[in-house]
Amino acid sequence: MNDPTLLIEELLKKIRSCRACQEKGYIPEARPVFSPVYPSSWMLIGQAPGKVEQESGLPFMGRAGRNLFRWFKEIGWEERGFRRSVYMTSVTRCWPGKQARTSGDRAPSRKEIDLCLPFLMEEIELVSPRVVILVGKLAVKVFLNIDKLEDAVGKKFQQKGRIWIPLPHPSGASRWLNPEENKARLREALRIIKELRDAGN
Ligand code: SF4
Repeated sequence: MNDPTLLIEELLKKIRSCRACQEKGYIPEARPVFSPVYPSSWMLIGQAPGKVEQESGLPFMGRAGRNLFRWFKEIGWEERGFRRSVYMTSVTRCWPGKQARTSGDRAPSRKEIDLCLPFLMEEIELVSPRVVILVGKLAVKVFLNIDKLEDAVGKKFQQKGRIWIPLPHPSGASRWLNPEENKARLREALRIIKELRDAGN
């Protein structure tokens, strides 16, 4: 079976039925969330879904999503068109649950990342996007091995025949965006995305 569409559909079935993290007791409930648009020359990779995303079954449906789509709207990319044309996924696909003693979500653990990452690597190979937007510190670390967003946002990276564009995570971005230089970094990242789109990617 070499038809890429069939291979992707096989993979999506495997992801949708995965319960590995729940069976190991890492997460409360395995309900994989992603939005597989293919063929697509653009992919967006976030950290992990939140509770709102788990309930809706779609990525970036909560407050973080509103911020993210506000950024894209500024460069003329409306949410509806974006969702229709971009394969949206994340480093881990299931809501990790709450962070102890806080109201925020827990970041996925190394064990969860190791269990889920092979799915993402296979998706990237099969979908073969020309441009990948990495949203948040975790995705930037996993794919570009860069620890600080300041060293990544506002630049484009060429790797394995693709262009990788880091963005801050929109849920925690407000504090990161306080310094003027970080606001400028985000503006530059969005300018790069617009330029690539305008060039027909
Ligand atoms: S996070 Fe990934 S590996 Fe873990 S249960 Fe969900 S789909 Fe499976």
